[in-house]
Amino acid sequence: MRYISTRDTSGRPGKRFSDILLEGLAADGGLYLPEAYPTVTPETLEAWRELLARDGYAGLAFEIVRLFVDDIPADDLRGIVERAYAPEKFLDPAVVPVTRLSDGLWLAHLSNGPSAAFKDMAMQLLGELFAYELARRGETITIVGATSGDTGSSAEYALLGKPGVRVFMLSPRGRMTPFQQAQMFSIDDPGIVNIAVEGVFDDCQDLVKELNADADFKARHRLGAVNSINWARLMAQIVYYFAAWLQIPGDAPVSFAVPSGNFGNIAAGHIARQMGLPIHRLILATNENNVLEEFFRTGRYRIRGASETLATSSPSMDISKASNFERFVFDLLGRDADRLRALFVDDLADGEFDLSATPEFAGQLERFGFVAGTSTHADRLAEIRRVLDADGVMIDPHTADAVHVARASGVPAPIVVLETALPVKFAATIVEATGQVPPRPERFAGIEDLPRHVVELPRDAGALRALIEG
Ligand SMILES: *Cc1c(COP(=O)(O)O)cnc(C)c1O
Repeated sequence: MRYISTRDTSGRPGKRFSDILLEGLAADGGLYLPEAYPTVTPETLEAWRELLARDGYAGLAFEIVRLFVDDIPADDLRGIVERAYAPEKFLDPAVVPVTRLSDGLWLAHLSNGPSAAFKDMAMQLLGELFAYELARRGETITIVGATSGDTGSSAEYALLGKPGVRVFMLSPRGRMTPFQQAQMFSIDDPGIVNIAVEGVFDDCQDLVKELNADADFKARHRLGAVNSINWARLMAQIVYYFAAWLQIPGDAPVSFAVPSGNFGNIAAGHIARQMGLPIHRLILATNENNVLEEFFRTGRYRIRGASETLATSSPSMDISKASNFERFVFDLLGRDADRLRALFVDDLADGEFDLSATPEFAGQLERFGFVAGTSTHADRLAEIRRVLDADGVMIDPHTADAVHVARASGVPAPIVVLETALPVKFAATIVEATGQVPPRPERFAGIEDLPRHVVELPRDAGALRALIEG
């Protein structure tokens, strides 16, 4: 299995998994994808249903991950996957249990990991892969990442104490919930540096990109990424689409509704579908920051500025451009890197591109199955209340986005909604919706009272460089 960049027009052979693992973003600014997606047969799916029942989530994850990774010995890879998805790290030993709601909806619980958000599903594997690969090479790495809330704590819990790894995590100052801030800032470790940036999430992401574009700095400090552009994260996320599908009775196609921001979660669903998993529709849910919904409705991809990016009650979806979207557009355009460059390098320099008049956009639903919708704050509150009343289940505002959009979509049952965070992370919104304080798992007791470890910086790459240089 080799990997190519979405922007590579050279025709050179692709790279190995272990090289792109540490590299993150490609040097040409593109994103890595497998040269071709592996495919699975209905017989394999049947066998995996038994495997999941017998060997649990880690057993299934190993079978899927090995399709993408052929340069780590199988025994080592199995150990990596088993450490990443050890049942005791998750609030439920099933790791990703699926439960039934009313009206043909199901919930796949992706937020039972150490930071109570779905990003743990990818980050736990990434942490183990990084530790393994760095030890194998005798190298170190400096992770510079950006977070609007959940990536940061998830990455820090996954990389904490891993030898050879330093972490600099940028977050928009004051934009995360008190719980999210406490999760990150309570970590007291010399290898983990929290940085609060004056600006919004995209300012943080731009700073990370700016540092990575400086080839000399990147090489000197061995910069790496853990944000959702890293291929290994997408790869890890593919697994739970299979795990969820396998837990729905029967083998008919299932649709998935996905609370979306950077298009990472749903990009994994797209790949699972390309691999042959019977997925009918991929229902993309956004909040008021509807860059992606607008694309699927109109064919126009129009990125927004910081001033147009709203702070909402589903903050992990408050994005103005979607860093993983390029991967899907690459597939949509039949993997034409020249055309992709024209859109993402040339057209996007002016803030938008337009595919509305292309046959690819016209054939999108038929070929790729995406439908999209948005929710408002009032929709999310109503949905949180409704699901609690109807099913006795408390969902977080991101999950509520997807429940709302799934219901409004007209897509037939069954629909699996991906639950992306526990309600405890967004207590104020839950109280507003229901009047009830969300339950707090024992592992998070009192974290707001711990001392805070955070450095404040202006939106300035020079200041960030200086901090990393020490
Ligand atoms: C990150 C995140 C999302 C958005 O996922 P993408 O992969 O960026 O589309 C949605 N909900 C929660 C709770 C998240 O943490």
